[in-house]
Amino acid sequence: MESYKPVWLKGAIILAINLANAGYKPVTIGLGERDFYVDIQSDTSLTLDEAKKFAKYSEVQFKVENNYINYNGIKIKIENSEINIPSSNPKYFEILNISTHHPEPTVQYVRIRGVAFETEEQLKDYLNWLEKAEETDHRLIGERLDLFSFHEEAGSGLVLFHPKGQIIRNELINYMREINEGMGYQEVYTSHVYKSDLWKISGHYTLYRDKLVLFNMEGDEYGVKPMNCPAHILIYKSKPRTYRDLPIRFSEFGHVYRWEKKGELYGLLRVRGFVQDDGHIFLREDQLKDEVKMLIKKTLEVWEKFGFKGEDVKVYLSTRPDESIGTDEQWEKATNALMTAMQELGLSFGIKEKEGAFYGPKIDFEIRDSLGRWWQMSTIQVDFNLPERFKLEYIDKDGSKKRPVMVHRAIYGSLDRFIAILLEHFNGRLPTWLSPIQVRILPISDEVNEYAEKILNELKKSKIRAEIDYAGETLSKRIKSAYDQGVPYIIIVGKREANEGTVTIRGRGNIEIKNIKFEDFLNRLKNEILNRDVEQTAIKTLKK
Ligand SMILES: [Zn+2]
Repeated sequence: MESYKPVWLKGAIILAINLANAGYKPVTIGLGERDFYVDIQSDTSLTLDEAKKFAKYSEVQFKVENNYINYNGIKIKIENSEINIPSSNPKYFEILNISTHHPEPTVQYVRIRGVAFETEEQLKDYLNWLEKAEETDHRLIGERLDLFSFHEEAGSGLVLFHPKGQIIRNELINYMREINEGMGYQEVYTSHVYKSDLWKISGHYTLYRDKLVLFNMEGDEYGVKPMNCPAHILIYKSKPRTYRDLPIRFSEFGHVYRWEKKGELYGLLRVRGFVQDDGHIFLREDQLKDEVKMLIKKTLEVWEKFGFKGEDVKVYLSTRPDESIGTDEQWEKATNALMTAMQELGLSFGIKEKEGAFYGPKIDFEIRDSLGRWWQMSTIQVDFNLPERFKLEYIDKDGSKKRPVMVHRAIYGSLDRFIAILLEHFNGRLPTWLSPIQVRILPISDEVNEYAEKILNELKKSKIRAEIDYAGETLSKRIKSAYDQGVPYIIIVGKREANEGTVTIRGRGNIEIKNIKFEDFLNRLKNEILNRDVEQTAIKTLKK
């Protein structure tokens, strides 16, 4: 790809000059990872078709001065001045994307991204390569499916989820809420910002300083939460607790902010603000083993729901590191409880010697995705530190005051990161229950629109996310478009279907079934979604 960059830069110059000749105001050109870009200063955006008119070869005369192109007195900044501008001339262009951003509060730049090559064959090869890359890079999948975006003027690593992305988040949250409820969690909500006093008690003020966002207001210093634990602890402390109350389990889809270094940010895999499916358990020492056992069982159940099981899931126990707090007795009891829980479940697990946190032993879960990569996901961590720092107590049977044990746990981990992993694992083709659009109806001609709308209403009544793609384009183009956008089911209706009250169903992998009673498909689809099946069971059971 690097070898194409000089010719892309030349392509960007030609495009910028073509735009200038048409009265636009190009200000910057540069190279991205996979393309070039031209920024024009403009209060209105361009459509892809408008931009394409200027993406063609023309003989241009310009001078290069310092980091600027000078064309008839118009100066355009080159952001990649280290690349030499070649004498070769790109003749084949493609515009890939248009977006806008604000370099200053009152100025808008329209960014046109594209590529340019000397031969048509190079362009074709490249576009084919790009299509494949788009299938496995969650940033490109996210753009193609219109799920989320990042904006320069909003700040790096701070994501904006679009309506379709939010559907995926809500589905994941709904499922986890059911899982948590099944284990006896009570959901809480806590604020995003707290006085530094709290972070000093918890220790984050010093231990987590480099990632903590601090600011001053009215003479007090505040910090944006990097973790939810201290807030959950304050809820625990809001009233006296007795041995009968334990275990107390709080869960929260908690929004946390950690100021990662800019160079380490990477799409949704590494962001500065994200949501955890967080949870904290306060319990007695003698309850630890059973609690952890339940948690492990549920965690494995969750991973199986997404198709991760058997060889594709690994569990590790991390033991006491050299630098640690807590007594020998505490460590031994807790480590034994975690180990016995796994043994009683017949689970095989690895041991990571001395890799526990300084405040307690932990269990980690790793999953392997379709590309063979391992990801560390769920975690169960025993903590001797925070109960001590916050002086947590419960009243025991004999009336004496005791410290509860605290456990931190997350199953998805970060919701945002998990979405990135899912998008790459499934190449953007998510299981039906997670898909923003679950069914797209394609009427063959306008004559059957009424029938298509009747089917749409039926689907909507069953709370299935469906839409109609009316007959503007050819059927094959509309099928391809649904496929590209990851829609799991296509319903095709023509005159015959309308007369007979049937439908033709297309699933993934070119499976097509004709003349199915719509009701029959609908019931199977409802089941597939209700069960949160990872496979397309509705069409698979119809085929049998
Ligand atoms: Zn925690």
